[in-house]
Amino acid sequence: MEQLTTRAYAKINLGLDVIQKLPNGYHQVKMVMQAIDLWDELTLEKAESGIVLTTDAEGLPTDGSNLICRAAGLMRDAFSLKEGLKIHLRKRIPMAAGMAGGSADGAAAIAGINRLFRLGLPVSELMRISVAVGADVPFCILGGTALAEGIGEELTSLPPLPPCHIVVAKPDLEVSTKFVYEHLDARGLTEHPDIDGMVTAVREGSLPGIIHRMQNVLESVTIPAYPVIAAIKDKMLSLGAAGSLMSGSGPAVFGIFTEEDTAKEAFRQLKAYSPAKQVFLTAPFHR
Ligand code: ATP
Repeated sequence: MEQLTTRAYAKINLGLDVIQKLPNGYHQVKMVMQAIDLWDELTLEKAESGIVLTTDAEGLPTDGSNLICRAAGLMRDAFSLKEGLKIHLRKRIPMAAGMAGGSADGAAAIAGINRLFRLGLPVSELMRISVAVGADVPFCILGGTALAEGIGEELTSLPPLPPCHIVVAKPDLEVSTKFVYEHLDARGLTEHPDIDGMVTAVREGSLPGIIHRMQNVLESVTIPAYPVIAAIKDKMLSLGAAGSLMSGSGPAVFGIFTEEDTAKEAFRQLKAYSPAKQVFLTAPFHR
């Protein structure tokens, strides 16, 4: 049977602001998202019937709760696909880390099915459909650098970041996005990130202007609950990062480095630093 292999890229949030809690329970956000060169791999193969997911990731459900199955089911129903699918996921993106691993997988499944079944749908249509799988999924389809508004699904593509190196370090804990948003006092936030200023800095290609504005309001919930995140941020800065921030709802922390040698040395040192359980040396990713 026909098959294809595709990649699902993780993201970081260079800036994350929460504007308000909406009556439907979602939060209105304003974020600068960046795809990074750290990926899961999905192999999709046509099958006679059904949707069957297998994975090398321990403890990850492969039933209908997996965003890959949700995405595949959505595509099958929306386009009345007659054949089934066998999907295998090789997981590398840390889970429940704030790096949208599940959303990236859902996005890769949607884009992969579009190719495998030769549906010929444009990216804009894939993005429109994909929001039903999750608010971060449209960005994962778009990729690159983008401003995300609404619940995260209103996207404006931005120019690529100036060249830089990114080190990601995740402590040995998983944080539920739901927990973080439920404990966020959106009205009580006194300091808001300058997302408009960051967008201007991205458009001007000013890395210092971007780094200077890196801020994530979700740190106000996650860091008091897990102080190890602040320790990893401090470590990144002491190892020469020009800026360091928690990504999404955490607990993954990233550092931006201007020099490759400094990033490589920080990567080595962080691997030997026990609070950081998983460490990656990566970079912004643009298709
Ligand atoms: P976000 O940054 O969007 O908040 P995250 O990085 O914090 O996401 P994920 O790794 O995407 O978190 O997933 C969190 C939960 O979603 C996991 O506990 C897992 O049970 C569920 N999930 C469903 N599908 C997937 C998938 N394909 N990969 C990872 N997690 C998945």
